[in-house]
Amino acid sequence: MKIIFLGPPGVGKGTQAERICERFELAHISTGDILRANIKNGTELGKAAKSYIDKGELVPDSVIIDLVRDRLTEPDAVKGCLLDGFPRTVAQAEALEEFCDIDAVINMDASVELLIERITGRRVCRNCGATFHISRLAPDAACDKCGGELYQRNDDKLETIENRLKVYTAQTSPLIEYYTAKGLLKSVDGEKHIDTVTEEICAILEQL
Ligand code: AMP
Repeated sequence: MKIIFLGPPGVGKGTQAERICERFELAHISTGDILRANIKNGTELGKAAKSYIDKGELVPDSVIIDLVRDRLTEPDAVKGCLLDGFPRTVAQAEALEEFCDIDAVINMDASVELLIERITGRRVCRNCGATFHISRLAPDAACDKCGGELYQRNDDKLETIENRLKVYTAQTSPLIEYYTAKGLLKSVDGEKHIDTVTEEICAILEQL
């Protein structure tokens, strides 16, 4: 099974992706995570991507397409994968079609107010990348999975979020129509409880 998670920043794609990948034994391919790992390791790709990410802009299509094309040739991805945060433009979606057959696109959405609240409250483990929300964290809490330090992503700060949401509307949301036209789009209400969203996605995937 090969699926795409589509939706604005903060809607819960990453959290849901972790659960769904475990349940359906899919490789979790998050382009944002791959880029952040490259920044952390100081690679050329990381250096090139950082300025775009920090401004809330998209990394150029050609860079991302090459990255995903390579990743999809790895054995775990060949067996089945969930693309989280890719494609983000129509050009990326068109390129993907050349090297991968997608079974379904799960589209999640939520109000702008809720997205902002979720993004500004998000904290990420510097070590393992697990995400948390401040409303469920004690002050000075560490990662409950590995004990790593929690931090706020630069691009999760309020000044950058507005641009990320604008970029989503302008460049990524046209994919809703794109995948609807192909009969692949399934929508889920991202405002519902985290467990309800998981169950709804599972129900969709079990029908495939
Ligand atoms: P995410 O973790 O998915 O929110 O991605 C964080 C940032 O990485 C985005 O705001 C973009 O700057 C960059 N990025 C991730 N995926 C893509 C993509 N498919 N195309 C372009 N830029 C991306």
